[in-house]
Amino acid sequence: MTRVLLLGGTGDALAIARALPAAHVYSLAGLGRVPGDLACAVRVGGFGGIDGLVRYLCDEHIALVVDATHPYAAQMSRHASDACARADVPLWAVRRPAWQPQAGDDWREALDWRDIVERIAPFERPLFTLGREALAHLHEIPASQHWTIRCLDAHPGNERASIIDARGPFDLDGERALFDAARIDVVVSKNSGGRATEAKLAVARERGLPVVMLTRPALPDAARTFDDAASARDALQHWLNRP
Ligand code: NAP
Repeated sequence: MTRVLLLGGTGDALAIARALPAAHVYSLAGLGRVPGDLACAVRVGGFGGIDGLVRYLCDEHIALVVDATHPYAAQMSRHASDACARADVPLWAVRRPAWQPQAGDDWREALDWRDIVERIAPFERPLFTLGREALAHLHEIPASQHWTIRCLDAHPGNERASIIDARGPFDLDGERALFDAARIDVVVSKNSGGRATEAKLAVARERGLPVVMLTRPALPDAARTFDDAASARDALQHWLNRP
Protein backbone atom coordinates (compact mmCIF):
# COMPACT_ATOMS: atom_id res chain seq x y z
CA MET A 1 0.00 0.00 0.00
CA THR A 2 1.55 3.34 -1.03
CA ARG A 3 0.15 6.17 1.05
CA VAL A 4 0.72 9.85 0.43
CA LEU A 5 0.94 12.47 3.17
CA LEU A 6 0.03 15.90 1.82
CA LEU A 7 1.04 18.82 4.06
CA GLY A 8 -1.36 21.68 3.49
CA GLY A 9 -3.05 24.75 4.78
CA THR A 10 -3.09 26.54 1.41
CA GLY A 11 -5.40 26.77 -1.60
CA ASP A 12 -2.78 24.87 -3.63
CA ALA A 13 -2.79 22.02 -1.12
CA LEU A 14 -6.58 21.87 -1.07
CA ALA A 15 -6.66 21.63 -4.87
CA ILE A 16 -4.28 18.65 -4.67
CA ALA A 17 -6.20 17.10 -1.75
CA ARG A 18 -9.39 17.12 -3.84
CA ALA A 19 -7.72 14.68 -6.24
CA LEU A 20 -6.45 12.31 -3.51
CA PRO A 21 -8.27 8.99 -3.07
CA ALA A 22 -9.38 7.69 0.34
CA ALA A 23 -6.19 5.89 1.36
CA HIS A 24 -4.15 9.09 1.50
CA VAL A 25 -3.87 11.78 4.14
CA TYR A 26 -4.25 15.56 4.01
CA SER A 27 -2.63 17.23 7.03
CA LEU A 28 -3.48 20.64 8.47
CA ALA A 29 -1.94 22.57 11.35
CA GLY A 30 -5.42 23.38 12.64
CA LEU A 31 -5.39 27.17 12.35
CA GLY A 32 -7.98 27.51 9.60
CA ARG A 33 -11.01 25.78 8.16
CA VAL A 34 -11.00 21.99 7.98
CA PRO A 35 -12.64 20.80 4.74
CA GLY A 36 -15.35 18.21 5.29
CA ASP A 37 -15.87 17.16 1.69
CA LEU A 38 -12.66 15.33 0.76
CA ALA A 39 -12.35 11.69 -0.26
CA CYS A 40 -8.95 11.40 1.44
CA ALA A 41 -8.44 11.31 5.21
CA VAL A 42 -7.87 14.66 6.94
CA ARG A 43 -5.72 14.93 10.07
CA VAL A 44 -5.38 18.11 12.09
CA GLY A 45 -2.59 19.34 14.39
CA GLY A 46 1.20 19.21 14.64
CA PHE A 47 3.14 15.96 14.56
CA GLY A 48 5.28 16.85 17.56
CA GLY A 49 8.39 18.08 15.78
CA ILE A 50 10.74 16.10 13.56
CA ASP A 51 10.76 13.00 15.82
CA GLY A 52 6.96 12.95 15.84
CA LEU A 53 6.81 13.23 12.08
CA VAL A 54 9.36 10.43 11.61
CA ARG A 55 7.20 8.24 13.86
CA TYR A 56 4.06 9.20 11.94
CA LEU A 57 5.66 8.37 8.57
CA CYS A 58 6.69 4.93 9.82
CA ASP A 59 3.49 4.10 11.75
CA GLU A 60 1.24 5.17 8.87
CA HIS A 61 3.37 3.54 6.14
CA ILE A 62 3.73 6.79 4.22
CA ALA A 63 5.55 6.29 0.90
CA LEU A 64 5.60 9.91 -0.31
CA VAL A 65 5.28 13.31 1.36
CA VAL A 66 4.09 16.31 -0.63
CA ASP A 67 4.83 19.64 1.05
CA ALA A 68 2.24 22.13 -0.18
CA THR A 69 2.42 24.42 2.85
CA HIS A 70 2.63 28.19 2.54
CA PRO A 71 6.04 29.57 1.45
CA TYR A 72 6.38 31.24 4.89
CA ALA A 73 5.59 28.04 6.82
CA ALA A 74 9.33 27.34 6.86
CA GLN A 75 9.42 25.30 10.05
CA MET A 76 7.00 22.71 8.71
CA SER A 77 8.94 22.52 5.44
CA ARG A 78 12.23 22.03 7.30
CA HIS A 79 10.69 19.39 9.55
CA ALA A 80 9.30 17.58 6.52
CA SER A 81 12.69 17.61 4.82
CA ASP A 82 14.56 16.33 7.90
CA ALA A 83 11.94 13.71 8.77
CA CYS A 84 11.76 12.39 5.20
CA ALA A 85 15.55 12.07 5.08
CA ARG A 86 15.54 10.14 8.37
CA ALA A 87 12.63 7.88 7.42
CA ASP A 88 13.92 7.46 3.86
CA VAL A 89 10.65 8.71 2.36
CA PRO A 90 10.79 10.86 -0.81
CA LEU A 91 9.68 14.48 -0.48
CA TRP A 92 8.02 16.56 -3.18
CA ALA A 93 7.24 20.22 -2.73
CA VAL A 94 5.03 22.88 -4.25
CA ARG A 95 7.18 26.01 -4.18
CA ARG A 96 5.03 28.87 -5.44
CA PRO A 97 7.25 31.35 -7.32
CA ALA A 98 7.63 34.71 -5.59
CA TRP A 99 5.99 37.81 -7.04
CA GLN A 100 8.44 39.96 -8.98
CA PRO A 101 8.36 43.76 -8.89
CA GLN A 102 7.03 45.42 -12.06
CA ALA A 103 7.56 48.89 -13.51
CA GLY A 104 5.99 51.40 -11.13
CA ASP A 105 6.39 49.23 -8.02
CA ASP A 106 8.02 50.66 -4.91
CA TRP A 107 8.85 47.59 -2.84
CA ARG A 108 10.89 47.88 0.33
CA GLU A 109 12.32 44.66 1.72
CA ALA A 110 11.96 43.92 5.45
CA LEU A 111 13.80 41.08 7.15
CA ASP A 112 11.69 40.88 10.30
CA TRP A 113 9.11 42.64 12.42
CA ARG A 114 11.58 45.33 13.63
CA ASP A 115 12.41 46.13 10.05
CA ILE A 116 8.72 46.39 9.17
CA VAL A 117 8.08 48.86 12.00
CA GLU A 118 11.01 50.98 10.81
CA ARG A 119 9.85 50.97 7.19
CA ILE A 120 6.28 52.01 8.00
CA ALA A 121 7.32 54.72 10.49
CA PRO A 122 6.87 57.59 7.96
CA PHE A 123 3.32 56.47 7.11
CA GLU A 124 -0.03 56.80 8.86
CA ARG A 125 -2.41 54.19 7.42
CA PRO A 126 -0.69 50.84 6.82
CA LEU A 127 -2.56 47.79 5.55
CA PHE A 128 -1.13 44.62 7.12
CA THR A 129 -1.66 41.42 5.14
CA LEU A 130 0.80 39.18 6.99
CA GLY A 131 -1.72 36.97 8.74
CA ARG A 132 -2.24 37.14 12.49
CA GLU A 133 1.28 38.34 13.39
CA ALA A 134 0.33 42.03 13.54
CA LEU A 135 -2.33 41.24 16.18
CA ALA A 136 0.42 40.61 18.71
CA HIS A 137 1.63 44.19 18.31
CA LEU A 138 -1.59 46.18 18.73
CA HIS A 139 -0.28 47.79 21.93
CA GLU A 140 2.77 49.14 20.05
CA ILE A 141 0.92 51.23 17.48
CA PRO A 142 2.23 54.80 17.59
CA ALA A 143 -0.26 57.65 18.06
CA SER A 144 0.50 58.83 14.51
CA GLN A 145 -0.78 55.59 12.92
CA HIS A 146 -3.98 53.66 12.39
CA TRP A 147 -3.47 50.08 11.27
CA THR A 148 -5.81 48.04 9.10
CA ILE A 149 -5.05 44.36 9.64
CA ARG A 150 -6.52 41.73 7.34
CA CYS A 151 -6.25 38.16 8.60
CA LEU A 152 -8.34 35.05 9.18
CA ASP A 153 -9.07 35.85 12.83
CA ALA A 154 -12.04 37.82 14.10
CA HIS A 155 -10.68 40.38 16.58
CA PRO A 156 -12.15 43.57 18.07
CA GLY A 157 -8.99 45.63 17.38
CA ASN A 158 -8.58 48.85 19.35
CA GLU A 159 -8.79 52.62 18.85
CA ARG A 160 -5.72 52.51 16.58
CA ALA A 161 -6.41 49.29 14.72
CA SER A 162 -9.25 47.91 12.59
CA ILE A 163 -9.25 44.18 11.97
CA ILE A 164 -10.81 42.70 8.85
CA ASP A 165 -11.29 38.94 9.03
CA ALA A 166 -11.40 37.83 5.44
CA ARG A 167 -10.14 34.97 3.33
CA GLY A 168 -8.90 35.45 -0.26
CA PRO A 169 -9.11 35.50 -3.18
CA PHE A 170 -9.36 39.29 -3.33
CA ASP A 171 -10.14 41.09 -6.59
CA LEU A 172 -9.02 44.45 -7.92
CA ASP A 173 -12.28 46.31 -7.32
CA GLY A 174 -12.58 45.01 -3.78
CA GLU A 175 -9.00 46.00 -3.00
CA ARG A 176 -9.51 49.48 -4.49
CA ALA A 177 -12.58 49.94 -2.29
CA LEU A 178 -10.64 48.80 0.79
CA PHE A 179 -7.73 51.15 0.06
CA ASP A 180 -10.21 54.04 -0.34
CA ALA A 181 -12.26 53.26 2.75
CA ALA A 182 -9.23 52.73 5.01
CA ARG A 183 -7.17 55.52 3.35
CA ILE A 184 -4.24 53.13 3.00
CA ASP A 185 -0.86 54.79 2.39
CA VAL A 186 1.46 51.75 2.64
CA VAL A 187 0.99 47.98 2.31
CA VAL A 188 2.78 45.34 4.40
CA SER A 189 2.89 41.94 2.75
CA LYS A 190 4.53 38.58 2.54
CA ASN A 191 5.79 37.66 -0.91
CA SER A 192 3.32 34.79 -1.10
CA GLY A 193 3.16 34.51 -4.90
CA GLY A 194 0.08 33.18 -6.72
CA ARG A 195 -3.04 34.95 -7.93
CA ALA A 196 -5.32 34.93 -4.89
CA THR A 197 -3.81 37.89 -3.03
CA GLU A 198 -1.84 39.78 -5.68
CA ALA A 199 -4.51 42.43 -6.46
CA LYS A 200 -3.33 44.59 -3.53
CA LEU A 201 0.05 44.93 -5.28
CA ALA A 202 -1.65 46.19 -8.46
CA VAL A 203 -3.62 48.75 -6.43
CA ALA A 204 -0.46 49.91 -4.63
CA ARG A 205 1.23 50.24 -8.05
CA GLU A 206 -1.58 52.27 -9.63
CA ARG A 207 -1.61 54.61 -6.61
CA GLY A 208 2.18 54.90 -6.28
CA LEU A 209 2.10 53.45 -2.75
CA PRO A 210 5.04 51.57 -1.27
CA VAL A 211 4.84 47.91 -0.32
CA VAL A 212 6.92 46.69 2.61
CA MET A 213 7.68 43.10 1.64
CA LEU A 214 8.74 40.60 4.27
CA THR A 215 11.69 38.57 2.96
CA ARG A 216 10.85 34.99 2.02
CA PRO A 217 12.40 32.35 4.25
CA ALA A 218 14.85 29.88 2.73
CA LEU A 219 13.21 26.51 2.13
CA PRO A 220 14.84 23.09 1.86
CA ASP A 221 15.28 21.27 -1.43
CA ALA A 222 12.97 18.45 -2.41
CA ALA A 223 13.32 15.50 -4.78
CA ARG A 224 10.77 17.15 -7.07
CA THR A 225 9.44 20.70 -6.91
CA PHE A 226 6.40 22.17 -8.64
CA ASP A 227 5.46 25.78 -9.33
CA ASP A 228 1.75 25.20 -8.91
CA ALA A 229 -0.91 22.82 -7.70
CA ALA A 230 -1.90 21.60 -11.15
CA SER A 231 1.55 20.29 -12.05
CA ALA A 232 1.96 18.66 -8.63
CA ARG A 233 -1.48 17.05 -8.94
CA ASP A 234 -0.68 15.68 -12.42
CA ALA A 235 2.64 14.23 -11.25
CA LEU A 236 0.92 12.71 -8.24
CA GLN A 237 -1.77 11.07 -10.39
CA HIS A 238 0.95 9.63 -12.55
CA TRP A 239 2.84 8.37 -9.48
CA LEU A 240 -0.31 6.82 -7.96
CA ASN A 241 -1.23 5.10 -11.23
CA ARG A 242 2.23 3.66 -11.90
CA PRO A 243 2.30 -0.14 -12.23
P1 NAP B 1 5.18 26.73 10.64
O1 NAP B 1 5.67 27.85 11.50
O2 NAP B 1 6.06 26.29 9.53
O3 NAP B 1 4.83 25.43 11.50
C1 NAP B 1 4.65 25.46 12.90
C2 NAP B 1 4.21 24.10 13.35
O4 NAP B 1 2.85 23.86 13.00
C3 NAP B 1 4.96 22.95 12.69
O5 NAP B 1 6.22 22.71 13.30
C4 NAP B 1 3.99 21.81 12.87
O6 NAP B 1 3.97 21.37 14.22
C5 NAP B 1 2.66 22.51 12.65
N1 NAP B 1 2.22 22.45 11.26
C6 NAP B 1 2.38 23.38 10.28
N2 NAP B 1 1.80 23.00 9.14
C7 NAP B 1 1.26 21.78 9.40
C8 NAP B 1 0.52 20.87 8.62
N3 NAP B 1 0.19 21.11 7.34
N4 NAP B 1 0.14 19.69 9.21
C9 NAP B 1 0.45 19.43 10.51
N5 NAP B 1 1.14 20.28 11.29
C10 NAP B 1 1.54 21.43 10.74
O7 NAP B 1 3.76 27.08 10.04
P2 NAP B 1 2.89 28.44 10.14
O8 NAP B 1 3.60 29.51 9.39
O9 NAP B 1 2.50 28.63 11.57
O10 NAP B 1 1.64 27.99 9.29
C11 NAP B 1 0.74 27.03 9.83
C12 NAP B 1 -0.09 26.48 8.69
O11 NAP B 1 -0.81 27.54 8.06
C13 NAP B 1 0.75 25.82 7.62
O12 NAP B 1 0.20 24.56 7.37
C14 NAP B 1 0.66 26.72 6.41
O13 NAP B 1 0.58 26.01 5.20
C15 NAP B 1 -0.62 27.51 6.68
N6 NAP B 1 -0.49 28.90 6.21
C16 NAP B 1 0.56 29.65 6.65
C17 NAP B 1 0.70 30.95 6.18
C18 NAP B 1 1.86 31.79 6.62
O14 NAP B 1 1.94 32.95 6.17
N7 NAP B 1 2.78 31.28 7.43
C19 NAP B 1 -0.24 31.48 5.29
C20 NAP B 1 -1.30 30.68 4.86
C21 NAP B 1 -1.41 29.39 5.34
P3 NAP B 1 4.85 20.13 14.73
O15 NAP B 1 6.25 20.63 14.83
O16 NAP B 1 4.23 19.78 16.05
O17 NAP B 1 4.69 19.03 13.72
